[in-house]
Amino acid sequence: MSNSNKIVSIHLAGVGLLTALALALMFGAPTRSAAGVEAEASAPDPMAQSPALAEELERARSSSTRGGGGIVITPNPRIEDAYCVKECVSVRKATPGATVRITGAYLDGVTKVVFPGKKKRMKVRYKAKSSTAVRVEVPRGADDGRPFVIDGSGAKSNRAPKELQIVPKADIPREVFPVRGPFSYGSDGSRFGAGRPGHIHQGQDMSAACGTRLVAIKKARVAYNAYDDGAGNYLVLANKGDNTSFVYMHMIRPGKPEVGEIVRAGEPIGRVGTTGTSSGCHLHFEYWIGPWQTGGKPIDPLPYLKSLR
Ligand SMILES: [Zn+2]
Repeated sequence: MSNSNKIVSIHLAGVGLLTALALALMFGAPTRSAAGVEAEASAPDPMAQSPALAEELERARSSSTRGGGGIVITPNPRIEDAYCVKECVSVRKATPGATVRITGAYLDGVTKVVFPGKKKRMKVRYKAKSSTAVRVEVPRGADDGRPFVIDGSGAKSNRAPKELQIVPKADIPREVFPVRGPFSYGSDGSRFGAGRPGHIHQGQDMSAACGTRLVAIKKARVAYNAYDDGAGNYLVLANKGDNTSFVYMHMIRPGKPEVGEIVRAGEPIGRVGTTGTSSGCHLHFEYWIGPWQTGGKPIDPLPYLKSLR
């Protein structure tokens, strides 16, 4: 944040909004509003502990471990899993620049993540962390293998139990099957066009355990994220370029992304549930040509779904 921005936010509490805006103009602050600056400062991400702060905490911790009652040994960091969460081809296939989440124990002292490299090992600083998880960006030059972490005192963890492959960004699929777990297309009654009291079924039902992860089928804008007595928690994704819309219904909780947000293919958006008018855990999935409910037309999604597996 620039100095001028800092001045604006310090003054914001004591002076009126107009004065703050005037100050922003005087100091040549960026066009972002003063209110926006304040909102950002008051909404910390729990995962986003700053590296500087973390190092300070680490120093405080190691100096307090030699106090009165003897030496307390801080356990080495331990890794249970390392998997791709953003810019991924799959959970075990990351790309350079992808975000990898490392889970385990005693991770709050971690300062570096080490990836196998094409030429030499690649050490990178974490992006965010807690005691049980670390987020890190895959560096260019990283290679397939099992990453590990190092804490502030130089202690190394075990290697991740499973290999993480690093593949080119071009391998990221443009379309992804929406249900990430075992599922069934069910019987004739689950099909598009099946009879329903007062209407016909406009989608394909896929039964799956409640809680099964659902992902965006392709890059799209979130058009709706709402609740309806029939649809339960539902989400509508709209792809302007293709003039298509995709609907996910009966989700266990409200969808993850907000209306207007752009989601990428494979990005988690919610989980299978049975909210609304539903008699068991399943995803009701609709494929529309054009906008959902406002001039578009639903088509049978099954051939498309089958093409994605
Ligand atoms: Zn249905």
